[in-house]
Amino acid sequence: MIIVMKAGATKHEKDEVVERVKELGYKPHVIHGTTRDVIGAVGDERKKLVLQQLESMSGVESVVPILKPYKLASKEVKKEKSIIRITDDVAVGGRQVCVIAGPCAVESEKQIMEAAEAVRKAGAHMLRGGAYKPRTSPYSFQGMKEKGLKLLAKAGKMTGLPIVTEVVNPETAELVAEYADVLQIGTRNSQNFELLKKIGKLKKPVLLKRGMSMTIQELLMSAEYIMSEGNQRVILCERGIRTFETATRNTLDLSAIPVVRNETHLPIAVDPSHGTGHLKYVAPMAYAAVAAGADALIIEVHPDPEHATSDGPQSQTPAVFAETMAKLRLFAEAAGRTL
Ligand code: PEP
Ligand code: MN
Repeated sequence: MIIVMKAGATKHEKDEVVERVKELGYKPHVIHGTTRDVIGAVGDERKKLVLQQLESMSGVESVVPILKPYKLASKEVKKEKSIIRITDDVAVGGRQVCVIAGPCAVESEKQIMEAAEAVRKAGAHMLRGGAYKPRTSPYSFQGMKEKGLKLLAKAGKMTGLPIVTEVVNPETAELVAEYADVLQIGTRNSQNFELLKKIGKLKKPVLLKRGMSMTIQELLMSAEYIMSEGNQRVILCERGIRTFETATRNTLDLSAIPVVRNETHLPIAVDPSHGTGHLKYVAPMAYAAVAAGADALIIEVHPDPEHATSDGPQSQTPAVFAETMAKLRLFAEAAGRTL
């Protein structure tokens, strides 16, 4: 249910409603709108009609059911698009298209420093790099772990770029959150509900990737898991899904962009690197994503892709990335955005 407050409702009236929602056994989530606030009451769906009585409270305009299976992520609860602030200078969901770039994995100090400097120079807004790698094979490189986090932090400090890095399990989530500015949930973990709940309790923005076999509705339900624990700063990420097509590593579902825009206030990022798996397809899909309304891009860039420990074939070199950024500017402008 959502409790829609009157435009001029006082803080005292809102506090009273929040208290009453709690008394009735529901979790209140106050969402501040431009003209009025709404209070989402999340809990047992079967008994939700008891909340109807709140309509008689002072300051309350109406109590209406949320029809979608996801609540906090839905547009019913919040009509305006959310802007997720990462630092004073960087935000996702505003007019600027945010570009996150860097290697698939942190491999050495030299590699991450070179990558960080190159992507910063080309105009990226955040640095990516995996310190914990959830690989399909247990025999593949699993990441540098805490040592990798330290190197990422050093590279972030050197360039001034915020860090995006993946969390693979609840046990190491807090450690990763000490170093990262944005916590990435990978495609293999996007329905790991214990991990999502843990991330929901942390105070860091989240980049939630779409599972490779997930529907858009399931992606929104995963976002809901994070949000219902208190963390509202979720950025969704389309990274390609499994289809019968084999020419590309995944099928990058760009139609997810307008669908997500229609269904939720959360911003959406696109990952054309994992979405295609081939260097030569990354740039065209990045342009297409921006044309379709993506709020952010996450692109793999490696100073020496041929010797990369993971995802070399889809990694751009610094030179290719700089070219991509220059051309992307034109697409951003055409879409009414900045870069
Ligand atoms: C990654 O970003 O390096 C990654 C492993 O992505 P995904 O979870 O989308 O495969
Ligand atoms: Mn990768």
